[in-house]
Amino acid sequence: RAKDEGGGTHREYEPSLHANAEERRQLEHSLRHALERDELVLHYQPVVDARTEGVVSFEALIRWNSAEHGFVSPGKFVPLAEDTRLIVPIGTWVMQQACREAAAHWPANVRVNVNVSPEQLLEPDFVATVVRALSESRLDPKRLEIEVTESIFLRDASVARKALEECMAIGCSIALDDFGTGYSSLGYLRKLKFSTIKVDRTFVQGAAQQSPESIAIIRAVVAMADSLGMTTTAEGVENEEEAAMIRGLNCTKIQGFHFGRPMPASDVRAILSRQAEEWRLKSA
Ligand code: C2E
Ligand code: MG
Ligand code: MG
Ligand code: MG
Repeated sequence: RAKDEGGGTHREYEPSLHANAEERRQLEHSLRHALERDELVLHYQPVVDARTEGVVSFEALIRWNSAEHGFVSPGKFVPLAEDTRLIVPIGTWVMQQACREAAAHWPANVRVNVNVSPEQLLEPDFVATVVRALSESRLDPKRLEIEVTESIFLRDASVARKALEECMAIGCSIALDDFGTGYSSLGYLRKLKFSTIKVDRTFVQGAAQQSPESIAIIRAVVAMADSLGMTTTAEGVENEEEAAMIRGLNCTKIQGFHFGRPMPASDVRAILSRQAEEWRLKSA
């Protein structure tokens, strides 16, 4: 994943992309046709309540199976899509697809999280795209949480903020993704009422390895979120040890391989209908 570095002008790529301009050019060419060739698909990863471990949401995560390049990881092609602005049509497709899936196949108490890049957010018709995805799918806007990273504030902060405020006005919520890894400024937390702060996996790992700094940072983020009326999600929890640590630090929600990997929509439907069945049996 490309993280904006301090200055906001230069970005880091996977070494392979950096080293090989020709590969990048070919990848870009293929990416231009990925949508029309139906090569893109969404997987969904559960987000669970830290206390009950019940599923509260699924995060939509894009996957690309390219005819020419095979499976390409989002860490590789999302930055490329951002650079070429292909992320705009791709992002519109993601929004429509995720809203449709959630509205048609998930219970009303399960939300959907959708990642949005700065390039999308800064498009003048971004909000219209969200409104259309919601109305076409008939998804209750309260069930849509838009995930953005701190990098949205590096460019045109006021435009980004206005777009997100308009999304909030129609009922959506906003999560601040990968918190603590970008160009963090606490001032953003004052300007925009995020519903959730997602604590980056690096802190989760650090905490589980008893790093006093990581533990202190998570504690501080949780306390700050609490007093700002925001919730927290710990990202990338891979095992019971990490889950226990996170529970102890009172994060609201947990996401990670320990509770479920990103999976195809059909697997999500199967899990949710099994849960509904168990619930019916219990309450019968
Ligand atoms: P993200 O939004 O922070 O998503 C979480 C990433 O962490 C996902 O990587 C997920 O598979 C991975 N992950 C979840 N749990 C664990 C765990 O326990 N351990 C480890 N090691 N990793 C875990 P993924 O799917 O490769 O996506 C990478 C990034 O690409 C995402 O980071 C997001 O920034 C971007 N991305 C993915 N889908 C979209 C999309 O539809 N639109 C946009 N604009 N960006 C997307
Ligand atoms: Mg995310
Ligand atoms: Mg994240
Ligand atoms: Mg992350």
